[in-house]
Amino acid sequence: MALERTFSIVKPDATRRNLTGAVVAKLEEGGLRVFASKRIQMTKDQAEGFYAVHKERPFYGELVAFMTSGPVVVQVLEGENAIARNREIMGATNPEEAAEGTIRKLYAENIEANSVHGSDAPETAAEEIKYFFSDDEIVG
Ligand code: ATP
Ligand code: MG
Repeated sequence: MALERTFSIVKPDATRRNLTGAVVAKLEEGGLRVFASKRIQMTKDQAEGFYAVHKERPFYGELVAFMTSGPVVVQVLEGENAIARNREIMGATNPEEAAEGTIRKLYAENIEANSVHGSDAPETAAEEIKYFFSDDEIVG
């Protein structure tokens, strides 16, 4: 088992419904620790850059609009196999396919407004952490 860091976002649908604490509690109960956290309003530029990998997808414009529709909480999480563990706790992208007890099954509104983001690989985790945090903001 490897101690890893991953990047997480509590998305606008969750902050709007006052579910930040509920989402973070699920992450902590799942064995992850919050090493950095801040509530921000993402700019259009930031959201476009963050989701640049999905630029050609039909939902890109809507996704950027959704991610800038309200505050988000960006976080660095650490734990054993944190990248895979986080995605397990989050559940499938589409809440209708998410396993019982996962954040998306419990809280997501739909496939877009699905309450959380989690990095999908070590490279993207490192890039995404750097996109929002400087080293001195991450405190273990
Ligand atoms: P994330 O990257 O946010 O952790 P993910 O890795 O489960 O989610 P991706 O395929 O990377 O899923 O999609 C990124 C985000 O784009 C999704 O979380 C969701 O908000 C949105 N999205 C994905 N598929 C669709 C779709 N078919 N229609 C609308 N929005 C979508
Ligand atoms: Mg993804």
